[in-house]
This record gives sequence, C-alpha cells and structure tokens, in this order.
Amino acid sequence: MKKCLIVGGGFAGLAAAVYLSKQNFLVELIEASPKLGGKAYSFFDSKRNSILDNGQHILMGCYKETLNFLNIINSENNLTFQKSLKVSYIDRKGISHQLKAAKYFYPINLLIAILKYSAVSIKERISIIKFCAKLIFINPTKMRDESVSEWLKSEGQNENVIKSFWEIIAVGALNCSSDDASSKIFAKILKQMFFTGNFSSTIIIPSTDLSKMYCENALKYITDFGGNILTSESANEIVIKSNKVVSVKTNKREIDDFDFILFAVPSHAIPKIKGLPESIIDIANKIKYSSILTFHIWVKDFKMKNPFIGLINSQVHWVFDHGEYITIVISHADSIINYDETTLFNIVKSELKKYINLTDANIIDYKKIKEKRATFVPSTEILLKRPSSNTEIANLFLAGDWINTGLPSTIEGAVVSAKIATDSIIQTIKS
Ligand SMILES: Cc1cc2nc3c(=O)[nH]c(=O)nc-3n(C[C@H](O)[C@H](O)[C@H](O)COP(=O)(O)OP(=O)(O)OC[C@H]3O[C@@H](n4cnc5c(N)ncnc54)[C@H](O)[C@@H]3O)c2cc1C
Repeated sequence: MKKCLIVGGGFAGLAAAVYLSKQNFLVELIEASPKLGGKAYSFFDSKRNSILDNGQHILMGCYKETLNFLNIINSENNLTFQKSLKVSYIDRKGISHQLKAAKYFYPINLLIAILKYSAVSIKERISIIKFCAKLIFINPTKMRDESVSEWLKSEGQNENVIKSFWEIIAVGALNCSSDDASSKIFAKILKQMFFTGNFSSTIIIPSTDLSKMYCENALKYITDFGGNILTSESANEIVIKSNKVVSVKTNKREIDDFDFILFAVPSHAIPKIKGLPESIIDIANKIKYSSILTFHIWVKDFKMKNPFIGLINSQVHWVFDHGEYITIVISHADSIINYDETTLFNIVKSELKKYINLTDANIIDYKKIKEKRATFVPSTEILLKRPSSNTEIANLFLAGDWINTGLPSTIEGAVVSAKIATDSIIQTIKS
C-alpha cells in the first residue's frame, strides 16, 4: 500500500485525501490550524453559543467535481438544491427583480428568464441574449487577452447592463473587479453555468454549517479507510534527496514514511516552507489575492422574502437569510477592508436601510469577519503563471484553488485541483 502525506486540510487537501483513500492509498493529512476547512470553515461563537461560518459559501450545479466529492463522503443531504435557477435582486430604489427560469424546456427557460429580468430595459435584455447566443460559439482559450469589462463593452453591453447584470455574476464568481479579471476565465465559467444543462445554472446552498457540511464527513471517510488526520501540525521544512522529498519537518516531529507528498496549501503558505524548489516559490510569490468581508447580523422583527438576494449597484453584494441572523457579503472588498469597524458597519447599515429597509431597531448584534486573502485575482497575468500539479521533484505534487485548473478560486477549483493531483500521483505509479 502506497502512502501519501497531504499538507493542508481545506477543500483541496480533504478531497485529495478522500480520492486517494478510495484508491487504496494510506493517507496522512496534517493541517496547520486547529480546525479543518481552510478558507471554508466554521467556528464556535461562544458569545452567541452557536456555530458560524467564516463566510457564506454557495455552490452551483456546474460544480460537478465538488458534487461528486460530497456524494462520496455522503454529504449531499447537507445541501439545499434549486430545481431551476432563481435569483432575486433589489435595486437602489428598493424595487425587486428576478432572474427566474422555469423548471422545464432548457435552454429556452433561461432565455425567458433573461427576457423577464426587469432590472434592465427590454432593449438591454435583447443585447444580453444576443451576447449569450454569440458566447455559445466562442472558445475561451482562443479569445483575446483582455479584461471582463473590456470584453463586455466590445460586445455591445452598455454600462447599465454591465452594472445590473454582468457585474453581479462576475464579482460573485471571480471576487475581483471586472477591470482586473480575465475575459477568458469569465467566458469559461459562463459557458459552464449556462450552456451545460439546466442543473448547471442552479444555486446550491449549504443547509448546515461548513464543518458539518463537509469537514466532519470527509474526516470520517478518511479515518474509516485507515487514514490519519492531524490538526495544529504545520509542515515547516522538507528535505529533498535524489530528486525526491524524503522527509518533512513539522512543528511536532519529522515524517519520513511516505511515498508521495501533496501540498494542498494556499500560494502564500508556500514561501514559508523551507526546502521547496525556488521555481515553485517564484510562482507562488506572483499570485495576488482579493478579500471578502462578511457581516453576520442578528435581527428581530425582520423577515426576508427570499433565502438570498443580490443588491444591484451597491457596496454590499449579497444578503443571505439564516433565520435569526442574516449574512452580508461584500466581495472584492480591498478598498474598504482596512476601515475601522464602526465605519464599515455604518456603510453596511446605510446600504441595508436603502435596499431592504433594515433599521437600527431591527439589529440585535453583529459579527464581522475579514478574509483578506479570500481568493486569488484571476487576471490575465496571474492565470498564465498558475503552476501544474506535477513538479520538478518526482514525488512532490501541488493542489489548491490556485493550481492551474482553468477555473477561478472557488470550491470547485479546489476540488478539481485535488482530482488532477490524485490522478497525477496514480499515473506516476503506473508509468
Ligand atoms: C469568505 C469566503 C467566501 C467564499 N465564498 C465562496 C463561494 O461562495 N463559492 C465558492 O466556490 N468559493 C468560495 N470561496 C472560495 C473557497 O473557499 C476557496 O476557493 C476554497 O475553500 C480553497 O480551498 P483550498 O483547499 O484550495 O485552500 P485553503 O482553503 O486555503 O486550504 C489550505 C489549508 O492549508 C493549511 N496550511 C497552510 N500552510 C500549511 C502548512 N505549512 N502546514 C499545514 N497546513 C497548512 C491552511 O491552514 C488551510 O487550512 C470563498 C472564500 C472565502 C474566504
């Protein structure tokens, strides 16, 4: 039985550990922090005696590899599925708009959803449909190197359509400004969302906290197969001999009884690990990040009509209903993330008053969570630098959402990276 040491217990590390366990590998996973989950984690909030997530996470029907992983670990019951795409939006005047597809007659149902999207004029809706029709025949890899906003403008999408339709999708999926994101990656995900079947365009929301949603079941699956998961243990140094990693020094011990080692850590953790090849450190140093700001706000005498809503043309992007509290998501928050807490909360409150009429009288308490390095920026420059899973060292592999999967920095990107890495490890044995 071959043994793989996995470093990092986020989506990528856990998915790789599950895939390798399934393939009869002995797995040992070490995670630096005391909890599993990486950038998608839960924690116990003692003040409110409840478990909270570090930020709202949503999946989509097009997250095929993630859904496969969640199915393997028996976690699909922890998700709430839509039958067809339904997203409610609200504009600055407090007027609601819906992007709502009927259950049947894909793809006509999506076409009708756009035709009924009242946040833009009829003429603008037709321009969206024309653009989508053209997109069907576009090969993203053959597109020009340009930003999302340059591309949308050159395809006749006016400012209102960009702000009231495309920007919401782009910022949500890529977590960065449309001026920075590459049009190629945006085109790729649009095609995956809208042109690969009705289910692909649907939104999937965890029905439990993230730790229950996937960490606990992944842990059980891996340990049932004889694997071992150790938290609060960080890989600090590796020793390479004859082009192979022969040992890893952690904060607790030295590990040398493995055949393969998979680093499923974020790019910013790479330069801190001594002994890794300069070529990997060089690439890791070039990856830039974008932040997400979350506010969980406990409310009273306030009911949302929808499980979640998108705010058009606002600094607050999404509001999710969790019953006793609502979760506010500010994507791509770099320009405000360093403001002091009062200023930030005042921005949030002012937007919520305008859009959903939430006043001070409705607010009981709140908790702010800053994730400064939430996702990497998928600019043209950075996309060209993403490393592959295989490295110049024979038994050393990389995974994580920043690896070259062709996808943005998402759960699906992380799980696909795990699939690529585990396939590469298995291939190494066969060849
Ligand atoms: C607030 C927020 C909201 C998000 N919303 C969404 C969403 O709605 N949909 C979506 O698809 N994606 C979303 N994302 C992105 C998604 O969470 C990430 O893309 C994904 O979780 C990345 O997983 P990963 O395993 O690649 O990396 P990580 O989650 O960063 O995991 C890497 C792990 O490695 C550990 N580690 C680092 N160094 C060492 C070391 N030396 N030794 C041992 N362990 C180490 C870290 O502690 C970490 O646990 C969101 C992210 C954030 C922060």
